[in-house]
Amino acid sequence: METEKVIRACRLHIEMAIDDFVNEEESAPEIIKVQNGKCSYCVEEAEYEIKK
Ligand SMILES: [Zn+2]
Repeated sequence: METEKVIRACRLHIEMAIDDFVNEEESAPEIIKVQNGKCSYCVEEAEYEIKK
């Protein structure tokens, strides 16, 4: 079974997160606005969730 990759990002890191996702998955991600969770790149609150 394939595990679903999810990246969370704050406003600052959203572009970096999309780049990382596209590099690994080689497909365009779905970007969802979220109001909980932490950014995968810093200690800020995440604003977006990026997944397949
Ligand atoms: Zn961040």
